[in-house]
Amino acid sequence: MKIEVNTHYKDLQESYLFSEIGRRVRAYADAHPDKKIIRLGIGDVTLPLSAPVTRAMQKACAEQADASSFHGYAPENGYAFLREAIARHYASFGVTLSLDEIFVSDGAKSDIANLTDLLGDNRIYIPDPVYPVYLDSNIMCGRRITFMPAHEENGFLPMPASDYTTGVFYLCSPNNPTGAVYSRSQLKEWVDFANRTGSLLLFDAAYEAFISGDYPHSIFEIDGARTCAIEICSFSKTAGFTGTRCGYTVVPDLLVSDGLSLNHMWYRRQSTKFNGVSYVVQRGAEAALSPEGFAACLENISYYMGNARRIKELLLAKGIRFTGGDNAPYIWLRCPGGRNSWEFFDYLLEELQIVGTPGAGFGSCGEGYFRLTAFGSRENTEEAVRRLREKL
Ligand code: PLP
Repeated sequence: MKIEVNTHYKDLQESYLFSEIGRRVRAYADAHPDKKIIRLGIGDVTLPLSAPVTRAMQKACAEQADASSFHGYAPENGYAFLREAIARHYASFGVTLSLDEIFVSDGAKSDIANLTDLLGDNRIYIPDPVYPVYLDSNIMCGRRITFMPAHEENGFLPMPASDYTTGVFYLCSPNNPTGAVYSRSQLKEWVDFANRTGSLLLFDAAYEAFISGDYPHSIFEIDGARTCAIEICSFSKTAGFTGTRCGYTVVPDLLVSDGLSLNHMWYRRQSTKFNGVSYVVQRGAEAALSPEGFAACLENISYYMGNARRIKELLLAKGIRFTGGDNAPYIWLRCPGGRNSWEFFDYLLEELQIVGTPGAGFGSCGEGYFRLTAFGSRENTEEAVRRLREKL
C-alpha cells in the first residue's frame, strides 16, 4: 500500500502490558497443565452484577421487546435519568453539577483516550507509574510528554514542580497502580497551580468508591476546579461493569480556551463520533446508584477490601515494603530479594503459580515494584496468601 499512516504508532512499546502478561501466562499454563494458576494481576472484577442492577436491566430488556416502550438511539450524552443519578451521587460529596456537564459513555478508557481529540499540541504531564492509557493515547497523537515521578519520597503522589509549565496534567486518585490517594490540601495545590498557569487537569476518579478515609472523591470538591479540570469516572470497579460498559466524564461549563468551550467541544465530539450507551446498560447504571444498588456496590467493595487486608497482613508479616490497599483495590510492593519487576513476575508464576503485574509495565519508576490486586475471589486470594506465606 502507499497510503500515509499514523507513524506515531511506531513509538508505542511493542506490546500492551496485559498482552505480554497474557502471553507469558499462556506459555506457562500450556507447559504445566496440572498447575492451578491464581490471577491477582489484571484489574478485572470477579463478583457478578448485583441484584438491583440485573433486575433493572431485565426490566429494561422487557421494555425493549415492546413497541410502546422500545428505545432506539440513546442521547449521545446519556439519558437524563442516568445523568440525574450521577448528579445526585456528586451531591453526596457536596458537589453541584448541571446535567449538561455530565456525559455518559461506554467507559473511562475510551473517554480518557478520546479526550485527546479536544487538545492541540500541549506539553503532557503523566505520572510515572500510572495506568498506561494516558501515555499510549498521547504517543498515538505524537504529543510531547513529561513524566512526573511517583516514588516513596513523595508518597507516590507527584506534586507541581517548579519547572512545570502550562500543559495538560493527568492525575489518578485513588491511583492505579500504587493505591495512593491525594488529600484535599494536595489537590488544592494542583488546582491553584493549574489556574495560575492556565493548565488543564484530567482527573481520573475510576476508584473513588473505594475511598474509606477522609479524602476527596472528586476534584470538584476542591475550590477552583471548575475552571481547570475534567473528571473521568466509571461504573467498572464501583459496580462491576467491566464487561457491561458504562462510565461518565464531567466537563464543567466554565472550561474555555481560545474562545472555545471544552464542554461544547466534547458534546460535538461525542455526537459526531459516538452513538450513546444502550438503554439497558444505562438503566443498570442508574440502579447501581440507587440507595439499594449503591449499598450492594459498597458490600462488594468491602469484600474486595477484605482481600486487600489479607494480602497486606501477609506483606507486613514478611517485612515487605508496600503501599495501597486502604483506599484502593491495589497493593504496590517492593519486589523482595532485589529482583526487578519482570524477574519477580516470572518467579511468582513459575514457583508459586501466582500472576501479578510487574510495576515496570506502568512506567520506568515502577521498576523494582509489583502490583497485586484485591479483585480475586476470597478463596483464590486466601490460597495465594497461603502460597506466599510458605514459599516467599
Ligand atoms: N482508569 C483507571 C485508572 C483504570 O484503572 C481503569 C481500568 O482498569 C480505567 C480507567 C478504565 O475503566 P473502564 O473499564 O471504565 O474503561
